[in-house]
Amino acid sequence: METIAERLKSAQITVKQSTLDAHRLSNSVKLLAVSKTKPVSDIVQAYESGQRLFGENYVQEGVEKIQALHTLDGIEWHFIGPLQSNKTRLVAEHFDWVQAIDRLKIAQRLNDQTSAHKPLNVCIQVNIDDDENKAGINKAELKDFAKTINALPNLTLRGLMTIPKANQSQAEQTASFAQMSVLFEDLKKQYSTVDTLSMGMSGDMQNAINNGSTMVRVGTAIFGSRN
Ligand SMILES: *Cc1c(COP(=O)(O)O)cnc(C)c1O
Repeated sequence: METIAERLKSAQITVKQSTLDAHRLSNSVKLLAVSKTKPVSDIVQAYESGQRLFGENYVQEGVEKIQALHTLDGIEWHFIGPLQSNKTRLVAEHFDWVQAIDRLKIAQRLNDQTSAHKPLNVCIQVNIDDDENKAGINKAELKDFAKTINALPNLTLRGLMTIPKANQSQAEQTASFAQMSVLFEDLKKQYSTVDTLSMGMSGDMQNAINNGSTMVRVGTAIFGSRN
């Protein structure tokens, strides 16, 4: 059995090598460690190996971990799951980022519940494959939606996130990632705060990085499979 430290190291090497292979700057891709369902002790191991960015999917579980680990300096928490309106306050109060914004009502609540002293970083989730099983807004709605989100004063629009359709061919997946990259580059031209394209997970991070991802969300490859 490999340790979390060893698996984290492998994931870091994959990110670095994929970045070089894509002829991109060596520090242009961040690694978000997705710790959902994993115990606090696993997060501490990753932290002690230098990991600082962590992603959680479930509000209650995430908040408990954040509170348990509040003494760890420099740790950054990303909420990456779907969010219901009755849970927005906890997320606004505890997390640094919310990655999967796709409803105005949720964004407005987060805006109202976030302190103006510490804006909440947000990404808009795009349903790039028009997959009826996936959350996210459609490509055609993105421009208007981004404008609305950007106007909310306590939210900082950082970019886009996506989860491509499962079981696509490599070519289809590449096409989805490439479309996201075009949308991201367009958005970046319009908003100076935009710097993040969150795409790629344990199974597809190389392809995502090759197509312009700036943040991969990696769970299984670091913490092992989930029960
Ligand atoms: C669970 C999850 C991940 C991590 O997936 P792995 O395949 O375990 O790397 C990434 N992004 C989101 C939105 C997730 O829910």
